[in-house]
Amino acid sequence: MKLSVSACWESQIAQPKARIPMTTTSDSTSEELDAVFPTGTVEPEYVLDKALDPDPASVFKDVSGEDRAYWNRARTFVQDEVLPVIAGYWERAEYPLQLVKRLGELDLLRDGINIDGFPAMSKTAAGLVTMELSRGDGSIGTVVAVQGGLALRSVAECGSPEQQARWLPALSRAEEYGAFALTEPAHGSDSVGLETTATAVEGGYVLNGEKKWIGNGSIGGLTVVWARGDDGQVHGYLVPQDSPGYSATTIEGKLSLRAIWQAHIRLEDVFVPAENVLPGARSFKDTARVLLATRLGVAWSAVGHATACYEAAVQYAAQRRQFGRPLAASQIVQERLARMHSELATMQLMVMQMTKLDEEGVLTPAQAALAKFTCTRTARSIASNARDLLGGNGILLANRVARHFADIEGIHTYEGTETVQALIIGRSITGVSAFA
Ligand SMILES: Cc1cc2nc3c(=O)[nH]c(=O)nc-3n(C[C@H](O)[C@H](O)[C@H](O)COP(=O)(O)OP(=O)(O)OC[C@H]3O[C@@H](n4cnc5c(N)ncnc54)[C@H](O)[C@@H]3O)c2cc1C
Repeated sequence: MKLSVSACWESQIAQPKARIPMTTTSDSTSEELDAVFPTGTVEPEYVLDKALDPDPASVFKDVSGEDRAYWNRARTFVQDEVLPVIAGYWERAEYPLQLVKRLGELDLLRDGINIDGFPAMSKTAAGLVTMELSRGDGSIGTVVAVQGGLALRSVAECGSPEQQARWLPALSRAEEYGAFALTEPAHGSDSVGLETTATAVEGGYVLNGEKKWIGNGSIGGLTVVWARGDDGQVHGYLVPQDSPGYSATTIEGKLSLRAIWQAHIRLEDVFVPAENVLPGARSFKDTARVLLATRLGVAWSAVGHATACYEAAVQYAAQRRQFGRPLAASQIVQERLARMHSELATMQLMVMQMTKLDEEGVLTPAQAALAKFTCTRTARSIASNARDLLGGNGILLANRVARHFADIEGIHTYEGTETVQALIIGRSITGVSAFA
């Protein structure tokens, strides 16, 4: 029996662009063939970047016009400005700061934080933007998580009116860069145990300590440093990166999120004037409030990565031929695509429902943890499946999946690992804390 790809597939999915004629006629001379095939058969150039917009459970059908406008703007930015250049930045581990500037100009950096003078942005719009940016590239998605989700949000939630007036518009427009420094070399999952100190002196505080993994920490902006005050509580301090005693080294040799820089920061007697202390950050509970808001954003980011991998896998399966037929015509391949489809639907339903709860102001820490736990581990599964389905081509940067496959690892770890999310969920189930 002859197996064929259905007409539906033919119309939905671009066919591979032949770099060379795929068939030859009986009139072709051997010289002509040698010119075309200097070293033998050449495989076609696969087209894997068509937007298929998978939405198996129709969860996005009722997205409002305002939210969709943000989503579309993110999509156009990714298509026109990110995808043409990002693989090169990733490979060279360079930070495309001009793209960060563009995020500010396009008002895509705010992560749903409403600021005077800016149009309203809902949490759903913020999630869709994060998903779309991550569908393009994880480093660009992470820029929004760091600058908007963490730095901007810290000032918006815990800052004085003067601090807000000084920093919120500037960070939103990317006129300034923002970093959020919580993690330390010896305190990751247990960041609550941080050891950086803020000692009161005349006119302000002196900071001493080290921070690790700080996105945007070495590019000359503002760092929100979380440190322990004389009262033993954790507080937030606004530290310009050109402050005397602040030194930062960009972490090299990463296999994930290579197009955004994280820094190892050393704080040696850094003076912070009293007006740079966040008045609303009185204990680690306030830090945790900022982190809770961004955890759901990481889940949205995971949906973006999974979508990209799924889209590439579907298109590759239709275009790649083995054993005389497209991969897509094999039952096992269809089962694998169905599994990805199902997993993607689960993720989409999860983020949309949790965001609805967030919009209503009733999202609990355990629910935010459930969203991150479910979405990053599921995205990993989809990325791994897609990577394998692309065979050797799956490890080439040119073929879309490899970058997402690597980037999901960073996202799986930051803002609380899978295990830590599980422990938060477990505590809500049992009433017993197994980690603190
Ligand atoms: C790409 C990237 C970007 C980041 N950006 C920032 C940033 O901008 N600002 C910032 O402050 N931080 C940032 N981080 C830090 C990030 O939040 C931490 O890496 C994360 O919280 C995990 O900490 P850790 O790496 O020290 O791992 P560890 O805490 O050492 O964990 C190692 C392993 O042990 C497991 N584990 C830990 N505790 C327990 C337990 N009680 N029971 C069972 N298992 C446990 C973990 O799940 C993990 O598998 C970033 C990290 C990465 C990788």
